[in-house]
Amino acid sequence: MEKSIVHIDLDTFFVSCERLKNSSLNSIPIIIGGGDRGVVASCSYEARKFGVRSAMPIRMALRLCPEAQVIKGDMEYYSNMSHLVTEIIQEKVPVLEKASVDEFYLDLSGMDKFFGCYQWTSEIASTVMKNTGLPISFALSTNKTVSKIGT
Ligand SMILES: [Mg+2]
Repeated sequence: MEKSIVHIDLDTFFVSCERLKNSSLNSIPIIIGGGDRGVVASCSYEARKFGVRSAMPIRMALRLCPEAQVIKGDMEYYSNMSHLVTEIIQEKVPVLEKASVDEFYLDLSGMDKFFGCYQWTSEIASTVMKNTGLPISFALSTNKTVSKIGT
């Protein structure tokens, strides 16, 4: 039987969480990170446009994008939001693997007999977005690797 594997990814998760708390951060370049390690933990698309990437030293990131706003980050808040998303997904799917704070794999194999898998996943995605305000992407294929590339 062919498998139906979904990969769900919360888009620029830490940035999206910060924007929920403070809408003035919308559509400006944001860098989450700093602290002891001094590296970029996450950044907004507006910062990526300037070449800023995760794991880059903050100092280098600010050279590329001097107007970026640097936010220290609040792992406890992010992990609570991640938990909220997990609960929403868990309620709807039989087999869930949480791959990281912002990534999930769902095994919907066999469910296509009863539901359209794509339709089913779209509904989960819109429930997550509606209930948490966090943007997400997903991809559906017959294996984890292709689905992950898809998101
Ligand atoms: Mg992500």
